[in-house]
Amino acid sequence: MSGSETVTRLFEVTAQIESAAQQAGRSPSEVNLVAVSKTFGAEAIVPALEAGHRVFGENRVQEARDKWPALKDTFEGVRLHLIGPLQTNKVRDALRLFSCIETVDRLKLARAIAKELNAGGQEPELFIQVNTGEEEQKAGIFPAEADAFISQCRDDLELPVSGLMCIPPFDEEPSLHFALLAKIAERNGITNLSMGMSADFETAIAFGATHVRVGSAIFGTRPAH
Ligand SMILES: *Cc1c(COP(=O)(O)O)cnc(C)c1O
Repeated sequence: MSGSETVTRLFEVTAQIESAAQQAGRSPSEVNLVAVSKTFGAEAIVPALEAGHRVFGENRVQEARDKWPALKDTFEGVRLHLIGPLQTNKVRDALRLFSCIETVDRLKLARAIAKELNAGGQEPELFIQVNTGEEEQKAGIFPAEADAFISQCRDDLELPVSGLMCIPPFDEEPSLHFALLAKIAERNGITNLSMGMSADFETAIAFGATHVRVGSAIFGTRPAH
């Protein structure tokens, strides 16, 4: 895809977000577009940066480390969200690179982040990933354990948890999962909800998403692995 096509799609998605927010009686400014640039190189990302977009999502620490430091030097105000699994031995790197870690999904990781923050690391935004579909192969805290985990993170480890994130099962109606995530957030006094991808971000906005993670609708189809 050409750079101008990327920018056209970025603006289209932005317009769709605005109208979905308005239809839901929400202010469009409540919804952040996390442009998911995983697998795409700098040549695909630069046009979006030049068009003024600043919030991007990556799912691998190593890949982000290879491509983002140079881009961050050129474009001010970039905010990266980690949307893939984080190994504890990569926590330090991740905290240097990412403004928001959306995938806090187990106690061992939460402890490793807390240790790093206590040692004087940056203050990132932290979201807890909830496995709303209770899928074996997927990361995240099961819904029944979410309240206890949130309180462990906030009260015991004093982590600045400000959001929840979910990836619904791909073969199920996503709205049930969005509603469940919103409910868990509400009863725990959590304001940010990262939910919705290219196929369903408008539905997610209707259910209260504050962050939508949109990749292929902006950058095109990713190469299959
Ligand atoms: C890849 C990815 C996305 C973006 O998916 P698209 O369908 O391309 O929009 C969103 N969230 C997560 C966690 C991802 O890994």
